[in-house]
Amino acid sequence: MSDINNDSVVGKNFITNIIDEHNESGRYDGRVATRFPPEPNGYLHIGHAKSICLNFGLALDYDGTCNMRFDDTNPVKEDVEYVDSIKEDVHWLGFDWDDRLHYTSDYFDKMYEYAVQLIKSGKAYVDSLTAEQIREYRGTLKEPGKNSPYRERSVEENLELFEGMKAGRYEEGEHVLRAKIDMASPNIVMRDPTLYRIRKAHHHRTGDKWCIYPMYDYAHCISDSIEGITHSICTLEFENNRPLYDWVLENLEVYRPQQIEFARLNLTYTVMSKRRLIQLVQEGHVSGWDDPRMSTISGMRRRGYPAEAIRNFCERIGVAKANNMVDFALLEFSVREALNSTSPRYMGVVNSLKVVIENYPEDQVEEFVFQNNPEDPEAGSRMVPFSRELYIEREDFREDAPKKFFRLAPGREVRLRYAYYVTCTDVVKDENGEVVELRCTYDPKTKGGWSDDGRKVKGTLHWVSVAHAVKTEVRLYDHLFTKENPMDTSDGSDFKDHINPDSLKVLNECYVEPALGDVEPGFKCQFERVGYFCADYDYTKEKPVFNRTATLRDTWKKIEKKQK
Ligand code: ATP
Ligand code: MG
Repeated sequence: MSDINNDSVVGKNFITNIIDEHNESGRYDGRVATRFPPEPNGYLHIGHAKSICLNFGLALDYDGTCNMRFDDTNPVKEDVEYVDSIKEDVHWLGFDWDDRLHYTSDYFDKMYEYAVQLIKSGKAYVDSLTAEQIREYRGTLKEPGKNSPYRERSVEENLELFEGMKAGRYEEGEHVLRAKIDMASPNIVMRDPTLYRIRKAHHHRTGDKWCIYPMYDYAHCISDSIEGITHSICTLEFENNRPLYDWVLENLEVYRPQQIEFARLNLTYTVMSKRRLIQLVQEGHVSGWDDPRMSTISGMRRRGYPAEAIRNFCERIGVAKANNMVDFALLEFSVREALNSTSPRYMGVVNSLKVVIENYPEDQVEEFVFQNNPEDPEAGSRMVPFSRELYIEREDFREDAPKKFFRLAPGREVRLRYAYYVTCTDVVKDENGEVVELRCTYDPKTKGGWSDDGRKVKGTLHWVSVAHAVKTEVRLYDHLFTKENPMDTSDGSDFKDHINPDSLKVLNECYVEPALGDVEPGFKCQFERVGYFCADYDYTKEKPVFNRTATLRDTWKKIEKKQK
């Protein structure tokens, strides 16, 4: 079901403890069957990735199964575009559901049947209070609710009304079907929760067949039960809903999975709820769901994050029982870790400064051998052209360089990676005094970047030959939000007040070596000394575009030390 070959995808945690206990007691005959149940009302984000890695990972670790189930009970907000993107994202993360692709809407008939069964056994009734009245009657945390005047309708009347709801004889809001539990329950969820409501909306799968739709709490447990799920893993907000989950299945006298709640993932400088992400997209704060600054899986993929890095991150953060906030730097750490061993090294200059080597013959071109990845001998090597005019990184030159600056400065010598030693002899400026070009000389006896007279240089610079360079657009990304927790509204602010105006920088004076002039979108590499980059979807031979995936510098170790 997957080509992931870690010993363990999930690691040990309180959920595996529960599963181990069940396996020992034989509660599910040693079976482990999980599911990932997204609502197709948006693209998946890194929080979903956590849930995917957990559910599919448990199935892999326990030799069980994980179903893919679209929880499509709200026709108003759902769309096939989302269904398709969700499938693509789960596959890309490395997981597969084989033939276990399900839709909650496949069970609508069965759910209707079950509702009739609950009505017949006196466990459900049609209520005709308005939505507002229902809210009023529900009571508060401190006060019990009170019974609806419609609560004691006869079974016959309930059956007739419910059938009428299904047949479209009533308008939205006229009636709902409610479970008859306890309006005085200390758990508000149990105060006669709504099971069905009227929605005269077209459904992306069932079309116009239905005008009543089941509520999440009713649909979810039944879907789990029908599919024979053993461990129904959800996030902490559903803890109070567990008694209802159990109540529905108990009263229907059907198979009962175990619901287990864990803490949802929160990441610093990020928002994750689909409702908020939709706003960012629709109001144009980002270019789309797959904008590389988004916390979506598609955004991270476009930015160049490897699936392996996301999986490792999810394992690393573990499974918690209390809500917490994970540092974004830890995700970046996982990204760098994965990229460091897999990315080939190339030379790219993102902020260029031209260098002319005055004593190098005008028409001469030499080629030097470069290892594609010093960490991986099997990655092979390539030839890189060198000529009289080169681009180097602007920040690798300082006119008034302090002693400790080991890069290029007037009169100082540096190594050009795998090529020659060069010394800066002159600085050319424009009318505003800005440096526009450097004049250098090279030492022909240092070919390959080495000197045999024992002379040492401290700095090694990357470079690109002007005549062979491919001009590219480079996009640099920073956090989309300036505030660590943009969702914190205690200061009266809205999350959009904290959008980082500098989260995207587009650079156009960037040059890369010729080998990068014709790669596929999604191609990942390291620009030596600069960072990890990924060819963007906009990348074409005519207009090469690279996203910076991450800088080389890791801040996580520092943060970790501080935390200790
Ligand atoms: P959102 O609030 O972003 O809309 P959701 O929970 O409504 O999220 P669903 O499509 O219903 O989104 O979620 C599918 C699964 O993913 C659920 O099992 C849910 O618990 C899980 N999930 C969603 N967000 C997170 C998160 N931040 N951390 C862990 N799991 C999550
Ligand atoms: Mg939801």
